Amino acid sequence: MNITAATKLLAVIGDPVRHSLSPVMHNGWIADHGLDAVYVALPLKSDDPVAAIRTLKGLGFTGLNVTVPHKEAAALAADRTEQAVANVLRWENDGALSAFNTDGAGFIDALAETAPDWRARVKRVLVLGAGGAGLGIGQALAPHVDTVHFANRTISRAEAAAATLPNGRVLRWDELERGFGAADLIVQATTLGMSGQATQDWPIANVRGSAILADIVYRPLETEFLRAGRARGLVTMDGLGMLIHQGARAFELWFGVKPDAKKARARLLAALGA
Ligand code: NAP
Repeated sequence: MNITAATKLLAVIGDPVRHSLSPVMHNGWIADHGLDAVYVALPLKSDDPVAAIRTLKGLGFTGLNVTVPHKEAAALAADRTEQAVANVLRWENDGALSAFNTDGAGFIDALAETAPDWRARVKRVLVLGAGGAGLGIGQALAPHVDTVHFANRTISRAEAAAATLPNGRVLRWDELERGFGAADLIVQATTLGMSGQATQDWPIANVRGSAILADIVYRPLETEFLRAGRARGLVTMDGLGMLIHQGARAFELWFGVKPDAKKARARLLAALGA
């Protein structure tokens, strides 16, 4: 890599961000396409993240990925945005800052890769978790399905998520057995099962044989949720798919070229030591 004064600068901002796999993914694609750019991880601790993001304009950034806890601030900092929560920022030639959200579409790209017939198969979705990721995925899936049920440990967040959708519903956390039996697609979007976090005894035995299980946690790559699903012979999708496809959409927004998802998966598996 030959970094000069003309090299384009991109970054992921968040707190924490040192664990991020995005630099491996994007620098791999930058090399694949012979681009004069570099992508780094910037921990952003700030009482005023909106102002901090706007300051980056003066430093000449081309674009940013934004992760927890700055996704709302990113949308607020932008001059142009379609959503209240953004994971991608791009500085335009006229100096304006545009915000995008590629998380939901990235999840759907990954789902289509895993189960190309998902649109015919999936009518009832159950999303476990109503944090930023669960909400974004539920909202992206909603136009394509009959119902999206949110189940969340804190029920008020599930209610708030469901209320954003005409076909949004709430499933109580103590009704998971029933909900698992009724869903065609179950998306595990809590932090449960992440390395160092609590786990849960999911009622996988209740799941229909035709259902798809997706976990967005990717450390570890095979969570207990997915392991139990695979043991039952269900179609499963790991958390790298969403990571790669939201990133691919961001890369295309910045550089106008579609990067290779398979190459990214190989690099990320190596980085995870899998
Ligand atoms: P978040 O906004 O902090 O939400 C966390 C969610 O986990 C909430 O629904 C929370 O429930 C639930 N939770 C936490 N501890 C729990 C426990 N002990 N029992 C039951 N539920 C619990 O986080 P997020 O941004 O939505 O991210 C959620 C997960 O998705 C993280 O593991 C993150 O790494 C992963 N993620 C992956 C991708 C990808 O590309 N693959 C993208 C984004 C996020 P309460 O509301 O009750 O606290």
